[in-house]
Amino acid sequence: MSERVDTTYTCPECGEISELSMWKSINVTLNPELKPKLLDGSLLTFICPLCDCNQGVAYPLLYHDQDKRFMVWLMPETDGGSEELNTPEFAKMSALMQGYRLRVVTTFDRLLEKIFIFDNEMDDRVLELLREVLVNSVFEKHGITYEQLFYSKVDLTSPDPVIDLTIFFKDQPPKVYIIQGPDGYPRAVELLHEKLSIPKEETPYWKTVGQGYLELARGGFG
Ligand SMILES: [Zn+2]
Repeated sequence: MSERVDTTYTCPECGEISELSMWKSINVTLNPELKPKLLDGSLLTFICPLCDCNQGVAYPLLYHDQDKRFMVWLMPETDGGSEELNTPEFAKMSALMQGYRLRVVTTFDRLLEKIFIFDNEMDDRVLELLREVLVNSVFEKHGITYEQLFYSKVDLTSPDPVIDLTIFFKDQPPKVYIIQGPDGYPRAVELLHEKLSIPKEETPYWKTVGQGYLELARGGFG
């Protein structure tokens, strides 16, 4: 079930206090009408009824897709650590959630990326491996520094699967890097399971799969 809390918010422009609905959780299986509003940012935007200004608001929000069996917890203003979520009580409950992917992210952009990845039936752990290969073999080798990197397009249905990565740099426009063919995503799937011994089926506990994930995975915490 989706859960909404109605509260008040002080407009940063005119100082007037008006109503704001905050969504603590969104279940897109039970409330599919909320999904487009989340994706276009409107659920996390305050619009002042008096002066019309709008501003993004950041607060913890749980995204739940029962059909695709994943949850992403957006927790702004944290370090993205998941320790406090993996309580003994949760461990008991998680036995009922076999096969679920549970993720913690700290920004709205990363929440959108996780939804994009899981909606396209990809494994974000595999994508981290691809990202690491790209960073080591291309960026670091050529001394390129980048700021952010997002998965932006995918087609895994053809025998020649394609993944697009949009890369943001500090002082130049973003570039799209294309990973294509059986040596890309399909090979990374094999490497993840064979070389890193990360199982295909996940144990349902909350984790952050982003920069730093592979290091933990190599240490046995994948
Ligand atoms: Zn206002």
